[in-house]
Amino acid sequence: MNSAEFKKIGHEFVEWMAGYLENIENYPVKPKLNPGDIYRQLPDLPPGEGESMTAIFRDFREVIVPGMTHWQSPSFHAYFPGNSSKPSVLAEMLTATLGAQCMVWATSPAATELEDRIMEWLREMVGLSTKWVGSIQNGASDATLNALLTAREKASGFTTNHTGLTTNNFRVYASEQIHSSVDKAVAIAGIGRDNLVKIPVDEAFALQPAKLATAIDQDIAAGKRPLMIVVGMGTTGTTAIDPLAEIVAIGRKHNLWVHVDAALAGTALILPEMRWLAAGLEEADSFVFNPHKWMFTNFDASAYFVRDKQALINTFSVTPEYLRTAEDDRVNNYRDWGIPLGRRFRALKLWFVIRSYGCKGLQEKIRLHLQLARWFKGQVEADDRFELLAPVPLNTVCFRAIKPGASLAELNAFNENLMHCLNQSGELFLTHVKLNDVFTLRMVIGQTEVAKKHVEKAWQLIKEKAFK
Ligand SMILES: *Cc1c(COP(=O)(O)O)cnc(C)c1O
Repeated sequence: MNSAEFKKIGHEFVEWMAGYLENIENYPVKPKLNPGDIYRQLPDLPPGEGESMTAIFRDFREVIVPGMTHWQSPSFHAYFPGNSSKPSVLAEMLTATLGAQCMVWATSPAATELEDRIMEWLREMVGLSTKWVGSIQNGASDATLNALLTAREKASGFTTNHTGLTTNNFRVYASEQIHSSVDKAVAIAGIGRDNLVKIPVDEAFALQPAKLATAIDQDIAAGKRPLMIVVGMGTTGTTAIDPLAEIVAIGRKHNLWVHVDAALAGTALILPEMRWLAAGLEEADSFVFNPHKWMFTNFDASAYFVRDKQALINTFSVTPEYLRTAEDDRVNNYRDWGIPLGRRFRALKLWFVIRSYGCKGLQEKIRLHLQLARWFKGQVEADDRFELLAPVPLNTVCFRAIKPGASLAELNAFNENLMHCLNQSGELFLTHVKLNDVFTLRMVIGQTEVAKKHVEKAWQLIKEKAFK
């Protein structure tokens, strides 16, 4: 492809991108497809001769786009958002164009130094003190594994990296509602899933600190070695808020690593009125939140903060001769802050997003989402054909439709069918969670362009499909 062709087709792409975002509400949020429908439309073999970009782009529009779930639709209320924004998309185009590997300072000084600055900005925005340092990780799952490996190394005097695990006594604690990435992390880190102790939750689905304290005492009495507590600040099921200050006090008493998983909820800390979430956070050891969930920044961009930078680097630093540079003692070489060596230039899109919206613009959006969630919660509460199933501290409403006299099994089937009908309609997309065996619908409001009318439409549709 020559430069003239690149310009011509590039402009066509931008036209398409703008049109897609303008018309996104006309796409079914979730496509109606069967497994294999897209695969069968793709040729068995790669092309021998090169094809024109016109043909490739046509197939993108005709084969791929109809097979996509439209995550940027304002009627996407499923899972947690993976939201993006125009400033972020533009930055991603530039990142792809630069095509730089940003593993150490010397391989792209601006990428490292922008990341240094952006992590300071994010630290300030969520209200952490300057005792913390941050880096961008692929995801909250990576950050949690990163925290666990660091805790393991610190607890073993940084010997496990060399010897492998010589004791299998370590114990990790988290609530029954904690994200599955913790189950994965204990498996990968060699701690073992049998050593992940799931602590019961209260009626608000938050960890019960007294039960945690007892579990730790029992483990110590049995000769086990408590290592780490993972605290959920906004769990994925219901956005439950584990009582951080109390948990941190237990962690400090036993000298455990306290990791705070705020994948979604961390963004809410940019609002002064939501800072209550962070009570106790300053005394934790590590904290992760995902701007790629709720801060209008394309996946992947996870913000991971630690207080003990040296423990982190001692855990991950391996320096073969070919990666030694003259500046090593004066710069951050982010390859030493996590698992992968290669790193994309991810700070750029955060820079674009934060500058383009400004802190105020970001705050307004998050505030709106919280308001819309409170409005939706009010509708559920005011309608006796529905019931609320969990508190709503953030942007997620857990609820179900009810029918007088119906059994649990009947109500579960009824709500599962309701969700299926809603999602088949293409008008909106939401997902579910099981809470104490109750099939629960989750209405998540975090899309970049979501407005009152979309949430009203969703509520209307839910009522119609449930009780037509
Ligand atoms: C989404 C989520 C994760 C996993 O995030 P990734 O960035 O996809 O790894 C972890 N914890 C919580 C609470 C989440 O909501």
